[in-house]
Amino acid sequence: MINEIEKYAKDNNIPIMLKDGIEFLEEYIKKNNIKKILEIGSAIGYSAIKMALVSDDIRVTTIEKDKIRYEQAVYNISKLNLNTRIKIINEDALNINLTDEYDLIFIDAAKSQYINFFKMFSKNLKDNGVIISDNLNFHGYVNNVEQIKNRNLRQLVRKINEYINFLKNNEEFSTIFLNIGDGIGISKQKK
Ligand code: SAH
Ligand code: MG
Repeated sequence: MINEIEKYAKDNNIPIMLKDGIEFLEEYIKKNNIKKILEIGSAIGYSAIKMALVSDDIRVTTIEKDKIRYEQAVYNISKLNLNTRIKIINEDALNINLTDEYDLIFIDAAKSQYINFFKMFSKNLKDNGVIISDNLNFHGYVNNVEQIKNRNLRQLVRKINEYINFLKNNEEFSTIFLNIGDGIGISKQKK
């Protein structure tokens, strides 16, 4: 079933996490005993499912604004019998107000909104929690902004650079950047 989801994503150009990125995330969840996860950007449920499968006592809340992807995610989640442990919300994450607190917040939605997601959801982080952000290399473009011919793409990559600077200069959080998958940031509250 996981293979089928990977194939569906590939055939339909759905940008699910790259193999070494998701493996890193699974390891991180195991090592740090993470139990309660919030994900921004479910797509078809792939990463939410992979994270939930790390251990039986993990719970994931995941948000997806696109109706078709949401429905595909619901289908995949129920195929794997994970309905009780993965809660999926069909909404724009920027219009949601959650009150729960999480061990891990995984940001993997619209790259232009990362600063907003971070600011909005950091209040939902437990004291020792972590915010992980995906696609900080943006397919290798991030270090070559001026060479990008397409205007929209250039704008998007600039946004990611702004986010990286926002993390680097953050007073409350310190971030390490890893060259895994498409580039991952791991942000923790400063003590
Ligand atoms: N985490 C997934 C991939 C997510 S792709 C995986 O690895 O399996 C990014 C998704 O974020 C897209 O499906 C897109 O529709 C969704 N998205 C973008 N902006 C969003 C927003 N503001 N709120 C909710 N979902 C959003
Ligand atoms: Mg991603």
